[in-house]
Amino acid sequence: MCGIVAYIGQQEAYPILIEGLKRLEYRGYDSAGVALLNENNELNVYKAKGKVSDLEAFASSKDVSGHIGIAHTRWATHGEPNQVNAHPHVSQSGNIALIHNGIIENYLSIRKELEKRGFTFKSSTDTEVLTNLIEDVQQSEHVDLFEAVRIALNHVVGAYAIVVLEKGHPDQLIAARKGSPMVIGIGDGEYFIASDATPIVGRTQKVVYLEDEQVVKIKLGEELHIKTIQDVEAMPYVQELKMNLDSIEKAGFDHFMMKEIYEQPTIVRDTMRGRLNPEANTVRLGGIQQYEKQLLYADNIVFVACGTSWHACLVGSYLIENLAKIPVKVEYASEFRYRNPVITPHDVVIAVSQSGETADTLAAIQLAKEKGAVVLGICNVIGSSISRATDAGIYTHAGPEIGVASTKAFTSQVTVMVMLALRLAELKGSMKDEERAAFIQELDRIPEKMQWTLDHSGHVKDIAEKYKDVRNMLYLGRLQNYPVALEGALKLKEISYIHAEGYPAAEMKHGPIALIDKDMPVVFIATNHSTYEKVISNIQEVKARNGKIIAIISQKDVLARKMADYVIEIPETECLYSPLLALAYHIAVMRGCNVDQPRNLAKSVTVE
Ligand code: GLU
Repeated sequence: MCGIVAYIGQQEAYPILIEGLKRLEYRGYDSAGVALLNENNELNVYKAKGKVSDLEAFASSKDVSGHIGIAHTRWATHGEPNQVNAHPHVSQSGNIALIHNGIIENYLSIRKELEKRGFTFKSSTDTEVLTNLIEDVQQSEHVDLFEAVRIALNHVVGAYAIVVLEKGHPDQLIAARKGSPMVIGIGDGEYFIASDATPIVGRTQKVVYLEDEQVVKIKLGEELHIKTIQDVEAMPYVQELKMNLDSIEKAGFDHFMMKEIYEQPTIVRDTMRGRLNPEANTVRLGGIQQYEKQLLYADNIVFVACGTSWHACLVGSYLIENLAKIPVKVEYASEFRYRNPVITPHDVVIAVSQSGETADTLAAIQLAKEKGAVVLGICNVIGSSISRATDAGIYTHAGPEIGVASTKAFTSQVTVMVMLALRLAELKGSMKDEERAAFIQELDRIPEKMQWTLDHSGHVKDIAEKYKDVRNMLYLGRLQNYPVALEGALKLKEISYIHAEGYPAAEMKHGPIALIDKDMPVVFIATNHSTYEKVISNIQEVKARNGKIIAIISQKDVLARKMADYVIEIPETECLYSPLLALAYHIAVMRGCNVDQPRNLAKSVTVE
């Protein structure tokens, strides 16, 4: 999820690694580290919590010599961000150092097995487990590091981009990937390895992108030797690196926001990784396992959140009440903390925040604790204040979100909400097994459908062009599409400064309908099955008043398609958030707004 840089060649490795890590700083991270092998075959590992500059300060008086090294910026997924958990991790014997991006899902069972075999662990990461697994294979199978990495990765479930360095081998690095990117730059008698091309730009133009499940031996004086983890030889495909630095940081997109919109299919997979099991039709939420009973028998589940997270909670409330039949309330944290709410020890409060630092939400947690409730958290940033202040929780694993207006973080929160509702429904026995299984299968297909939606949303730009100069816009939806309408309107407000409101579609005639005229575009989310006819009537009401209609419809739709001025199609499902994001994005760009850093807004709202 975060940054990898490695070097092997004739130059001093340390300055190249530090410069590389700095180029990856835009990704956001919580700690950094470096491992270097010096002329005397000594392995020096330096790690620091915080920024690359903290690492530099820490290493300033140390031996940083060596022509081979690996470096990492970590965005914690397993274990809080601190020095011990930072990468590189060193194997038990001290022979191997490893850096890793991603998540090893089955790390706990591997760790238990290794403990039985005499391994001890210093950190709480999945990465240290992989490091020792490789060492164990190497020792018990008597194979070289290249082979040991290949064999070990056959036992691993999850996502990884890794680089491994071994004492006594100052001319060789082993790297591998699955689900996390990895690129190797081929220089003149030197190699640069990184998690994206940013650290390589300007150093060489010859690059090889490693494919999923490939392992590579990078040895000085030799060609790259690539194999699949199934032991099939592969030819390195050398390409020319054409991108400039800025576009690479944003993966070729003009803004972080668009990059993050396009990351959604991957993020949803990451959020479900190790939790959703479509083979067994089960959901496991390890983080809150010990509080499942309290959730099940709670008088109320009370969500507290602000902004976009509040919208995700509203989706959660519809799902949990509908599927698991447990009463749910959704509260603005800023109101909750001051309105003296009735909360008892029979309630479970769930605080939701991307950053995990939202001041109002933290205050709401404090209050709920004083009233004796169990308090759980759903947040993105591992080790954040909310993750520490709550009794237990679920991380969303959306990766660092740089754009101030939240996009992929919302999607990951909603993914957690669906899983939570399904898990509670299973425990409660409130859904038929077949019905729950169908839901789980559908959830497993969502990343593909999101990809389809993104691939087919090019014309959203034309819609944006048409309406970029309007002063107001209305977003309408029903049931769980109502919070999505709220979020769509919020996004437009936030980044394009156009006034927009979200409403439950049927509420329109209780007020907002007075605003409708030929200059008022109305975005309808018209995909619900059970309330489809009702939404069609609402569309008719807008049409009768000459309002302009943008309808988000499912592929099979006939009626709304005929009535709307513009349609955006999505596959037959509920994954309809992306088109709204794209609409807000294009309008904002066309209006010349600062998409990634809108005026007056901050990424994490740490003040009241
Ligand atoms: N899962 C690993 C950890 O928590 C790697 C996280 C990352 O990709 O930065 O240490």
